[in-house]
Amino acid sequence: MRLFQKHFCAVAIWLWAVSASNAQLLVEPTLHIKAEAGSGRVALTLDACGGKTDTRILSALVENKITATIFVTGIWLKHNAAAVAIMRAHPELFELENHGGRHVPAVDTPQKIYGIRSAGSPEAVLAEVESGAAALAVTGEPAPKWFRGATAEYSPSAIAMIRKLGFKIAGFSINGDGGSLLGAKETARRIAAAKDGDVIIAHINQPTHTAGEGVVQGLRALKAKGLTFVRLDDADGVGDEGTTD
Ligand SMILES: [Zn+2]
Repeated sequence: MRLFQKHFCAVAIWLWAVSASNAQLLVEPTLHIKAEAGSGRVALTLDACGGKTDTRILSALVENKITATIFVTGIWLKHNAAAVAIMRAHPELFELENHGGRHVPAVDTPQKIYGIRSAGSPEAVLAEVESGAAALAVTGEPAPKWFRGATAEYSPSAIAMIRKLGFKIAGFSINGDGGSLLGAKETARRIAAAKDGDVIIAHINQPTHTAGEGVVQGLRALKAKGLTFVRLDDADGVGDEGTTD
C-alpha cells in the first residue's frame, strides 16, 4: 500500500509538472508607428472576429474618410459580403489583413485564453494563419502582410513560426474598446486620448454593443484635433517581442 501511495504521488507530481510546462507564458505584443512632425498620426486597426458588421463604424469611416486596417477572419468573410464589398469599393481607405481562419488564439500549447481554446499545437497555429490568408485571397484582396491572432495573445514559439511564414504580427498600443465590452463613454475617452505614433485596436463586428458608438465618437474627436490616420502598410510599425523585426 505504501509503495502504491508513493508511486501515486510521483505520478501526480509528474502530471503537475507536465501541465505546468504546457501552459506557456503568453505575450501581448505592442505596436507603434513612427512619430511624425506636425499634428501627429495614428493607425486605427479594427478586428472582425466573427459575427456581423457594425455599420455605425463602417459608415462613419467612409463619411469621414478615415483610413483603417481591418483584421478579418475566414468566418467573418463568409457572412459579411456586403461589408466586404463596401471596403473593397474604397481601397484608398481600407486595408484588409489576416485575423485567422477560425479565430483561434495563436498559441501552440493547449490552454484557454479569455475562455477561448487555443490552437493547441504548431500544426494548428499554421492552419489558422494559412487558412486566414487563403480566405482573404478568395476576395481578390492583395495578399495580407500582417497577422493578428484571436485575443492578440501569443506563445513566443508561435510568434517565431508566424514570422517565418512572412507575416508581421500586429500588436497595438491603445486598447480602445476592451474587447468590445466597454461602454460608449470609456471607449470614446480611450480612443480620443491617442497620441502621435499610437496603434489603436477596437472591433467592427459587434453592432449591438455600445462600445461601437464610442469608437465613432473617439475617432471624430481625433479627427477634430487634426490627427491623421494611416494604415499599417503605409507606416513603419515597430513592435516588441520579435513581432516586426
Ligand atoms: Zn478577434
